Amino acid sequence: MSPAHPMRVITIANQKGGVGKTTTAINLATALAAIGKRTLLIDLDPQGNASTGLGIDREERGTSSYDLLTERASVTEAAMETAVPDLWLVPSTLDLLGLEMEISSASGRAYRLRDALHFHGVEHALFDFVLVDCPPSLNLLTINAMAAADAILVPLQCEFFALEGLSQLLETVEQVRDSLNPALSLHGIVLTMYDGRNNLAAQVVRDVRSYMGEHVYETIIPRNVRVSEAPSFGKPAILYDMKCPGSQAYIRLASEVIQRERLLADAA
Ligand code: ADP
Ligand code: MG
Repeated sequence: MSPAHPMRVITIANQKGGVGKTTTAINLATALAAIGKRTLLIDLDPQGNASTGLGIDREERGTSSYDLLTERASVTEAAMETAVPDLWLVPSTLDLLGLEMEISSASGRAYRLRDALHFHGVEHALFDFVLVDCPPSLNLLTINAMAAADAILVPLQCEFFALEGLSQLLETVEQVRDSLNPALSLHGIVLTMYDGRNNLAAQVVRDVRSYMGEHVYETIIPRNVRVSEAPSFGKPAILYDMKCPGSQAYIRLASEVIQRERLLADAA
């Protein structure tokens, strides 16, 4: 166990659907694994798109994030290998839909994920990065993901309503910091599905940058049909077509994420 290389938990959240959370989770995780970072992706959306996108069909999902959050399985039991070396997945199943009701009055219900990740200190031995893909909601699953995280990464789609909802999301981050997880920080905001032919998209980029400043990553993910095709082949875009502009952007995002990690580590 080396304190210089602690496990880092990054939660990918935005209560809006269709903004690129899952695509970012899959491809950022793949890019991190590709440079040798042992990475675990936890699918916390009952829809299970991250699991499907990594080629893990429903019938292959033995233990799941539901088992993890209900203390039926440990991380080591729930993490399954993927086709990507150094990338593991805790898949999701529809059981997650009932979880909120099931644990709504349990004590420590917001810490289920954190407790599972820190069980016996396994984290230090197993993973460099844990990425958590959240559902499109600020429900108990997302709160668990925030309570367990070192930092939040927020995908924002380059469209007219991009900033709508962001202040509510940041308020929730603030509340989690106040009540559940004082160490939580904002890792960054990534602009997704950018279409250079669209004037509005360029305006959205300017607006988001002027509002959120340095929180916004330099890398912008372009809208790219290869990226949207990849999940139907059960592959991350980075494996499906590494040269396409979307994959290249996700590889650049991964190096920015690593860079910020270094700055955070130096500051600590
Ligand atoms: P979320 O997880 O926030 O709901 P997704 O990552 O599932 O969002 O993305 C929503 C849809 O947009 C999906 O069909 C996905 O394939 C598509 N998509 C995401 N990013 C891109 C991109 N860069 N270029 C083209 N399509 C994209
Ligand atoms: Mg999703």
